[in-house]
Amino acid sequence: LHLEQPLGPGQPLALDADAANYLFSVMRMAAGDTFLVFNGQAGEWRAEVTRAAKRSGEAICRAQTAPQRNPPDLWLLFAPIKKARTDFIVEKATEMGAARIVPVQTDFTNSERIRRDRLAAHAREAAEQCGGTFVPEVADLERLSRLLDHWPAERRLLWADESRAGPVETLAGLPRGPWAILIGPEGGFSEPERARLGAMAAVTPVALGPRILRADTAAVAALTLWQAHLGD
Ligand code: SAM
Repeated sequence: LHLEQPLGPGQPLALDADAANYLFSVMRMAAGDTFLVFNGQAGEWRAEVTRAAKRSGEAICRAQTAPQRNPPDLWLLFAPIKKARTDFIVEKATEMGAARIVPVQTDFTNSERIRRDRLAAHAREAAEQCGGTFVPEVADLERLSRLLDHWPAERRLLWADESRAGPVETLAGLPRGPWAILIGPEGGFSEPERARLGAMAAVTPVALGPRILRADTAAVAALTLWQAHLGD
């Protein structure tokens, strides 16, 4: 369970309606039962339920079960697509160890806004389900051109470029350190976007295989490729 509260030995925890519903209705727990909890900073802890009510409860932190483990410094930039596919991308990026998820508006992106709270909830749930101790931040929707205007010099960008479609390229020899992956929308990247990305020193264009993948598949493929060569 993810709770935004301090964790430590003997630390009391307040359980809100969502947590109470999950623990007491879904998991059928009662006072005395224990569960695992993390807050994204202090590792994973075993906590014991001390009060169970319908819409609230209390627990106490007992012992740490795992140290904090943060993912490598990897951002996933993607152009939001249909709701269910966007949810899928956020879920898989969390499982695959992205540290920050950044929805970007590109020239061919249809979506004008995102439900950031909803995407953040998906990231939280995915982290809970895969036993992680870290929940990636979901950033606000931002224009790709603006992001590139302020691109941090030290962060390299792996650009999934559909026009290169061909054998999957190796990332061997590329430096470790801060990275981002960029996945385009269903319509791909516009010519001005390609020219801009192609001229940036920080950018490495990459092919993800000979077939054109859907954006959600491409996100998983690129994350896997990056993790295989540059992750931990
Ligand atoms: N409309 C584009 C076309 O027909 O060429 C395809 C866009 S594709 C559905 C969505 C995104 O996934 C692309 O912008 C790219 O970032 C990524 N992608 C898909 N297949 C890829 C491949 N084989 N190599 C690199 N990137 C790929």
